[in-house]
Amino acid sequence: MVIIVRPGADKDTTEGVISKVREMGFTPHPIYGVINTVIAVIGERTQEAMETLEAMPGVDRVVPILRPYKLAGREVKPEPTLVSLRDGTQFGGQAVVVIAGPCAVESREQFLETAAYVKDAGARVLRGFLYKARTSPHDFQGLHEEGLEILVEARERLGMPIITEVMDPRDMEKLDPLVDIWQIGTRNMQNYTLLGEVGQGEKPVLMKRGMSATIDDLLKAAEYVLVGGNQQVILCERGIRTFETQTRNTLDISAVPVLKRFSHLPVVVDPSHASGHDWMVPALAKAAIAAGADGLLVETHRNPAEAKVDGPQSLTPDAFRELMAELPAFATAAGRSM
Ligand code: PEP
Ligand code: MN
Repeated sequence: MVIIVRPGADKDTTEGVISKVREMGFTPHPIYGVINTVIAVIGERTQEAMETLEAMPGVDRVVPILRPYKLAGREVKPEPTLVSLRDGTQFGGQAVVVIAGPCAVESREQFLETAAYVKDAGARVLRGFLYKARTSPHDFQGLHEEGLEILVEARERLGMPIITEVMDPRDMEKLDPLVDIWQIGTRNMQNYTLLGEVGQGEKPVLMKRGMSATIDDLLKAAEYVLVGGNQQVILCERGIRTFETQTRNTLDISAVPVLKRFSHLPVVVDPSHASGHDWMVPALAKAAIAAGADGLLVETHRNPAEAKVDGPQSLTPDAFRELMAELPAFATAAGRSM
């Protein structure tokens, strides 16, 4: 159930309601919105509990949450969640934010060179994995510890926020000071131990949709992070498995309006993994903006033919610059900025 706090109720009154919720054996999740404060209450709902809470001072009303995703849904929080980074970049606001970089950090030169042109072209967040769950154990798994210094250098030199994938909670401590957003990869969307860990902190989490997960599964996975107390979650549509063979995955473009309608969390689209082909990326990126995406995740490599991972879907520096020059017109047409 969710408690809608009476507009204008002071802090002590709201705290009183939160304490009562706890006393009754429930877990309260206060969400302080611009217009309303609501308290999501997790636990077995009874009529009696609803009535007790509704009678408390400062409570406007108590409503049941009918959807399975209680904290990610618009029912508890009608206004969009803004996910904010240290440099002021925000996901979920007016601007469409581009995350870009190579699939993997391969070497110091490769990553720093890519970072420089990516920033120059207008991307706000730099990506690159050090740890990766690959479908085959024989494929390149990342530089691991060896790449940590490269991330530090890129971050310091360019001042760009960094997103990298975390696969194992044991890696979080060493990555924590270097990373601005945790990426949860498609293969880990239902790794509940990991979701629980990133949910304990305050660092933004970009959650990729499992390749065979429904939209509801994605929202329920996000719920695992939110329930830990971390509200800074970005949802990412990266294509799903279908019978189609022309594309690596099938971009489920309808996931964007569905997620935007039912959830307050920002939505990013990854046209690179969705398509698997560099030439398809610009069309899908533009479609994503038209559909209402709050951001894009695009892979680019200084020399895609030599990329250790995901070369065929990586844009060349020129193709990336061209795309970045084209996108603002699409953002404007969709009522957004870039
Ligand atoms: C990636 O972002 O490079 C990646 C491999 O993503 P996914 O987990 O969506 O496959
Ligand atoms: Mn990749």
